[in-house]
This record gives sequence, structure tokens and C-alpha cells, in this order.
Amino acid sequence: MSPAESSEITQSRLETRPVSSLKGVGPALQVSLNRLGIHTVQDLLFHLPLRYEDRTRIHSIAQLLPGQPAQVEGEVVEARIEPGRRRSLFVRLRDATGQLALRFYAFNKAQQARFVPGSHFRCYGEVRMGRSGYEMYHPECRVLEPGQPAEVADALLPIYPAVEGLAQRRLQGLVAQALAQLKSQPVQDWLPERRMAALRLPSLNAALFQVHQPRVDQVFTLESGNPARDRLAFEELVAHHLSLLKLRREIQSRQAQTFNAPGQEDQAFRQRLPFGLTAAQERVLAEIRADLGQSVPMLRLVQGDVGSGKTVVAALSALTVMACGQQCALMAPTEILAEQHLNNMKRWFEPLGYTVVWVSGKQKVRERREALERVQSGEATMVVGTHALFQEEVEFARLALVIVDEQHRFGVHQRLALQAKGRDSVPHQLIMTATPIPRTLAMSAYADLDTSVIDELPPGRSPIVTRAVADSRREEVVERVRLACREGRQVYWVCTLIEESDALQCQAAEVTAQYLHEQLPDVTVGLVHGRLAGTEKAAVMEQFAANNLQLLVATTVIEVGVDVPNASLMVIENPERLGLAQLHQLRGRVGRGIHQSYCLLLYHAPLSQNARSRLQALRESQDGFYIAERDLELRGPGELLGTRQTGVAGFRIADLERDGHWLESVRDLASALPEASPAVDGLIQRWLGVRVQYAQV
Ligand code: ADP
Ligand code: MG
Repeated sequence: MSPAESSEITQSRLETRPVSSLKGVGPALQVSLNRLGIHTVQDLLFHLPLRYEDRTRIHSIAQLLPGQPAQVEGEVVEARIEPGRRRSLFVRLRDATGQLALRFYAFNKAQQARFVPGSHFRCYGEVRMGRSGYEMYHPECRVLEPGQPAEVADALLPIYPAVEGLAQRRLQGLVAQALAQLKSQPVQDWLPERRMAALRLPSLNAALFQVHQPRVDQVFTLESGNPARDRLAFEELVAHHLSLLKLRREIQSRQAQTFNAPGQEDQAFRQRLPFGLTAAQERVLAEIRADLGQSVPMLRLVQGDVGSGKTVVAALSALTVMACGQQCALMAPTEILAEQHLNNMKRWFEPLGYTVVWVSGKQKVRERREALERVQSGEATMVVGTHALFQEEVEFARLALVIVDEQHRFGVHQRLALQAKGRDSVPHQLIMTATPIPRTLAMSAYADLDTSVIDELPPGRSPIVTRAVADSRREEVVERVRLACREGRQVYWVCTLIEESDALQCQAAEVTAQYLHEQLPDVTVGLVHGRLAGTEKAAVMEQFAANNLQLLVATTVIEVGVDVPNASLMVIENPERLGLAQLHQLRGRVGRGIHQSYCLLLYHAPLSQNARSRLQALRESQDGFYIAERDLELRGPGELLGTRQTGVAGFRIADLERDGHWLESVRDLASALPEASPAVDGLIQRWLGVRVQYAQV
């Protein structure tokens, strides 16, 4: 770099200064950072921690509790390979108070050789109940040199959303560099200071320092109530609100095609259904069809509790445009759910002479090319798929309606990308969500959508018995699973470990599956998680649906839509870490058949007051709206529209569940900013930069 260039860089603002200007960022690292949406130094500053690790203390082994992260120091007693379905490296560690096992499923010779008996290690990891008692799976381990006591950290360690190939430590170092620059060059604080002060929120720059480098003495958390965290969450909500308003304006300035309700086709479809629609389904369908009759593009949200029958309403909406020879795209957030829709749509539409086509990112190249050709030629009237549907290469001949299922999994901007796929006119848009949203919140959070509610379940559903069980009683729960399987029922076991990495989450599920397999040798155990290939996932699901698997261990990938009526028991691990809405969704996988169903919430004691109340609400009721209302009381006006997610579409720090009480201020402040101002563009760019560009494919 020439001196002129480098001085230009130090003078440039952090908003535009490339991240490659930081020390140690070469081309490879830059690619990884870009994958996280980090292009500028500012982007790095707004790459916010997911959580913190406390490495300021050493725990004694005797005090460890399962489910809790801990740092221990001890001497290696033995290290050996344990055979089994999955070989593991087993290390026994001892301190003055007791012994602890470390277990590694993925390891190499060099790692094995490190654990010389008699050597000392410091390890950080989560303690779980394992084969030999308390165990740490894949802890981070460091050799301690004899006679040189290693220091403990003096501040909480922030853990950032990461991607494979980019080590936490690397990210932590880069953020520290960015913070050093922030000291002398604050980033632009777009929100009026007076308003922030009135809400008792600190300045933006102060908030950034605190969130990235919390002092250990101030009990820093990412819960709301922490002013620094709240300041950032508030700004993020303002940015989202602004971008939403902007996009809605853009869409509704364009024209959509108008459709009359189909007559004959509608009759033919209904004649083949084994049931009649509920009154609520009829009402919502009528609302949708009224929108489709208008030339202003429909932007409608359909809320309906788990099992309320949204799919058939979606199909009848689709039929409205398909009967006129136009295309409908139906998109779901996971392969499993999308495939289930595909099966339904084929079953319903193919006998009526429509062509249903599948588009997925995991398709074989040739298959996919053929599918895309049929979409482009217009031969396909119904196109079902995952987010692969909004990739650039997917071209529709006559797209008139976009239906997105389970919206909270997609971001607003992602789904709007599909809108751009209409040719001469904008497609109508229908969003379906099983998450009940209180009205006030819906108005703010979905400022761009009109709302319909399916507030009635089809007749004949049996209630689910829900119990909370401490995980110290895990063995009894395993026994329950054994009994259920013996009676011919099927069981879900859901692992909900929330980790910054998908890999760890899947690993936890693998460990659990292994454990259950060992405990229940007579039971056939299957495993699904997000890292399996689509075909593998589908194969396992099919096995489960066909009752060839009795017990399905899964991550929350099964949260949405899966329909296996013979499954009558669900175990949910760590329910205290999930939002009520998500728990309610998960539980909705059982109670679909004629057998009495049970849901066991396997929590880890002690529960916070709030967690206890949440689990209580879940035990009390199965009504999604009641549950949402309870959540409203518990946490202020906010039912979760999506837990904070690290994915493309989620919030970085805001959480509608926790931050619902800000929404009115957010809306006021956002609408007070002039439509096209540097503040509006600056905020949108800062919080949603990459994603907004994404939406403009
Ligand atoms: P969700 O709203 O959770 O997506 P689904 O559309 O998957 O619910 O419907 C759940 C189940 O209820 C499906 O098996 C579906 O066929 C059935 N169903 C839908 N509507 C009715 C109805 N009006 N009467 C009886 N069963 C229905
Ligand atoms: Mg559904």
C-alpha cells in the first residue's frame, strides 16, 4: 500500500473504511468476513456478540453442574480411546476436589498425544451427563506449563456469530482493533441525543464499547434492561422499520394483476378434499381473494395456530391465480417442510391437471436445470421450494402469487426478493405464520402487511399433556420413551442447544442420539439435523413417517410443519432457553393422532422466575393466542416473531420478544425522519446493508 493510500484510509470514516485495512486481514480472511456481511470497519463494530463466556474464574470439579459452562484446571489421570459405535478419545482429569471426564469424538493422533498422564490442563466447556458421569464434550483445552500459573481473564469474553474457517479468537482480535480506531473516530450517531436521553439510553459509541468489552464487575448480559444493549437494539429496530416502510412504498407504487374467484375449479378442488373448511378458513380465504381482485399488490399475513389448516387455505389461494393460467410460488424455510408441501400440492393439484415443480438448492444439477426450464417456460403452474426459489437464476414466466410459509424464519427482505421476480407486474404476496402475534405488535412489526387470522382448529384434536421435568430425572424420561415405543408409539427428542455454530448444535444432537441408542438398545433411533444433506434428511423423515424409526432425535429443524400422527411423545431439552412461541411450535408436532400425547420439558434447574412462568404458561394451555398473551404479560408487549437469529434475516441484537415495549417509540422516531435523508440511508446501510442489496436482485 502506498503512503498516500494508507493516509487516505486512516482519514476515511469507519463507515466506509474497508475491513482489509486492519492488520492481519489478507484475501482469505477477507472472504470469510464478507461471508458474515462484514465489509467495512463499521460492519465489524456492528457484528455483535451472541453471548459471553466467563473465564475469569476456575471452577472446582466438585462444584460442576450439568448444562453449565465451566472452566476447570486439573491433572491428566489417563487418556484412552473408547470403542463404540463412534470411537471417542476419553481423558480423565483430576483436581483437588474430584474427577471429570473429557470426551472427544473428532480427534487426531497429535491431540491424543497431548494428554500425557501427569500433565496439567485448563479446559473450558459445558458439563453434561455422560456415560461415565459428568463429562465435557469437546472442551477447549490448553496445556499448563509446570511452575507457571496461567492468568485468568479479567473481562468477559464476547462470542460472535462465526462461520467455518474463521476462528473466534481471530474475530475477537479484529473487533479489538476496530474498537481502538473507534476511540478516536466515533461512528455517526443518527438518533437524536435528546430522544435517547429521554429513554435513558446511552450514546451509540459508548454502547458499542460496552457491548464488545463489558467489564466483568458489571454483570453484563444481552438481556433487555442493559442500557448499552438496549441502545443498539433500539437502533436496529428503527433501521428495520425504516427499511420496511421503504420497501412497502416501492412495492405498492407498482401494479399487480387482478383475479376473480374461480368457480368450477374451486368446486373440483373441494370435492376431492376429505374434509370441509372451517368457518375461519373460509373467512380468511375470502379476505385473500378480495385482495387478489385488486390491482394494488396484496401484502397479507395469515396467522393461524399450529394445525389450524393454513396449507389448504394457501392451496385455494394459489388455485385462484392458477385457474387463470398464472404461476404461484410456494416457499418454505426448510427442506423437510417444503417437501411436505410438495407432496400435498401434488396430491391436490396434479389430478386437476396442474403441473407442480420442485426447486431446491440441493437438487442434482440436471434435475434442477429441468425444473428451472419448466418454471421459465410457464409449464409449471405451481413451484414449491426452499429459499432456492429466490435465487437469481430462477425465472418465472407468469408469476402472480408468492406464498411464504412460516414467515418468521425468513426475513422481510428475503421474501421481498421474490417480489422482484414478477415481469410486467408485481406478484401478490401471502405470508403464513403459525406464530400468533398480538395485534399491537403485528401493527408495528409488520408495518407492511395486512393481517388475517385463522382462529379455529379443525374438529377432533386431542389435548396434549405437558409436564416440566428436571434433567436430573433424565433416566425416568428415557424410561418413558422406552414404554411409549413398546406400546407402538413414536417419539421425538428435540435438542435445542443454542450455539453460535450450527456444527455444535448438530454435534449435541449426535451425542444425544448416541446416548439414547445406548440406553435403549431395543428402540430404532434416527437423527435429523441441519447439516445432513437434503436427501438424507428426507430419507430419515420418511423412515420416521413410515414408522420404521421409533425415536427421532432432532434439532429444531423439525419445528415447523412435520406431520406424523403416530408420534405421541415429545421430549424437549433445555426448554428454558427457547421462546414460548417456538416451544409451542415444537409441541405442535404431537397431538395429531388418536392417542393421548405428552410433551416433557426437560429443563435444567435452577429456573429463573421468568423461565418458570413461561413453562407454566405452556403447561396451562395449548392455545397459541393464549400463550402469546401470557408472554405479553410476562415480558411486555411482544410475542416473538423469530428468536434472535444469526441467519441472513434475523436481528443481530434486537429481539421482538424482549424489545416489544420499544416498538411504539421506534415507530414514532422512524416516522419523524424525512423519507429520503442521510440518516435513513445511513441507518439502513449500517444494519441491513448487505441484505437490502440482496432484496434488489
Ligand atoms: P398448519 O396450519 O399448522 O400448517 P396444516 O395445514 O398442516 O396446519 O393442517 C394440519 C392438518 O389438519 C392436516 O393434516 C390437514 O389436512 C388437516 N386439516 C386442515 N384443515 C382441516 C379441516 N377443515 N378439517 C379437518 N382437517 C383439516
Ligand atoms: Mg404449516
